[in-house]
Amino acid sequence: MTRSKQVGNHKSDKKKNISKLWKTKRRVKDIDQIHHDLRPENAERLLNQELDYQLPGNAQHYCLHCARYFVDLKTLKEHFRTKVHKRRIKQLKEEPYTQEEAERAAGMGSYVAPQKVEVETQEVEMK
Ligand SMILES: [Zn+2]
Repeated sequence: MTRSKQVGNHKSDKKKNISKLWKTKRRVKDIDQIHHDLRPENAERLLNQELDYQLPGNAQHYCLHCARYFVDLKTLKEHFRTKVHKRRIKQLKEEPYTQEEAERAAGMGSYVAPQKVEVETQEVEMK
């Protein structure tokens, strides 16, 4: 039987914060889930959520791309200008990985490079 011994977690550069890697409580959505959310029919629903008192800002200020709730419009707008948000937009511009693409890459059919997807910061309406 093979025993896998985990070594070098605490000093490793790759895993800067191992406790965060294992935590699931604050786990955010994966990129492919967000791509799904960005479809107009889903986006519409997410941006017009019903009041939920369990969530920050009662679920009224949601960033689609980062799958995060904000307390008010001001914080949401500030968030749009932050590095986290911009990095996320950039990440989202890569087309989601599909089975079709995997097959093309594996020589089944001609390979077509993934296309850039136009992703823009959602509109926020002033009330
Ligand atoms: Zn964001």
